[in-house]
Amino acid sequence: MQIENQVEYNNRVLQDLKNRSVLGSLFYFPLFLTIVGPDGFYDRHARYCLLFGILIVAVCLVRIIYVTVVSKWVKKYSPLWENILFFITVGATGLSWGAFFAWVMILRGEYAAKMLILVCSAGIAAGGALAFVPSLTLAISYVLTVLAPTSTLMFIYHTNQYLAVLILIYYSAFIAYITREGNQEYRQAFINEQLLIKKTEELSLLARVDALTGLFNRRYFDENINREWKKTSRIRMPLIVLIGDIDHFKKINDQYGHLAGDQFLKLTAGLFKTVFRRETDMVARFGGEEFIVLLTDSEPELAFALAEKMRKRLSEMQIVWNGVSISATLSLGMACAVPGMSETREDLISRADKALYRAKEQGRNQTVVASPESPAHNCTS
Ligand code: GH3
Ligand code: MG
Ligand code: MG
Repeated sequence: MQIENQVEYNNRVLQDLKNRSVLGSLFYFPLFLTIVGPDGFYDRHARYCLLFGILIVAVCLVRIIYVTVVSKWVKKYSPLWENILFFITVGATGLSWGAFFAWVMILRGEYAAKMLILVCSAGIAAGGALAFVPSLTLAISYVLTVLAPTSTLMFIYHTNQYLAVLILIYYSAFIAYITREGNQEYRQAFINEQLLIKKTEELSLLARVDALTGLFNRRYFDENINREWKKTSRIRMPLIVLIGDIDHFKKINDQYGHLAGDQFLKLTAGLFKTVFRRETDMVARFGGEEFIVLLTDSEPELAFALAEKMRKRLSEMQIVWNGVSISATLSLGMACAVPGMSETREDLISRADKALYRAKEQGRNQTVVASPESPAHNCTS
């Protein structure tokens, strides 16, 4: 499978490389001490040991400071240079160790130190390759900076060439193989993560949307009105709820079949979306043939006018089903509240529902506005 967003992947790789590189830097100096400490090695080669000790500490410090502090600044000016400088700091640490490794290996005698550095360098190369697995280029180049100087010098100085071949071929080939596998797993993990995010987003969208009409479902409406209620109770803005119910919808189903009914519901939903089109308007399917609208940025007069517009539009709407044209009317109930007063959001919905019930009682095809909870809580005053 392919990586869809290469830029995001590259950013992630660099971030991961930086995170992984700090810990590794801390191990250089203890390993250095492990080699020069025992067996009087330091006393025999004090000047070189001091030189390499300072070099190793310095490059590790530069790498840590770059990764933790400086790279953020460089990124602001040039992401490319952030990348290049990071690769240089890693290369410098690898090379400083590689140079120390090479120097010890071409010394005469010093078998104990040679064995120690052989093991430590193998560890550093393998550990580095593992840490830098997100970037195959960096991982392989790092291994080479640690191992190649030694093998080359051992060849040039004819020091144990058999071992030199072993170091270069066996270590780098083996580590390169492991690194390639690790890199593929890293890429796959990234792809899986992106897939999971995408699927989760799709699922959460599905959980919010009504499958038939494509409107938000009741569950999401409830969540949203809770949110809006809390938000508007702070600023004391009115919330308006409209509930619309198709009149005698059962007849459509009975006469023309359920599929015709479904089609009518879909078109009604589309009509709701065109009438209540502001970004702050929320239309949801409340139940079978009932729709609910939450208006958070409206006046009661305007909301009533929109409800009437919706009602008229629906009465003019016709669908042709098997050559027969089907139409219906709509009844609406409207209620308004100012959150933060004594009323709850359930009371508001219940008042809108009762207003709808009155619209049905009074002959359908009309909008009824619920009286306020109390005169003091009138939205218009
Ligand atoms: P009233 O004017 O009093 O609202 O009458 P009504 O017939 O619209 O109301 P009633 O509650 O008696 O019937 C609603 C009908 O809506 C019954 C049900 O089969 C139908 N219905 C509910 N959900 C769907 C749906 O998803 N698709 C279809 N086709 N019909 C549905
Ligand atoms: Mg109904
Ligand atoms: Mg109905």
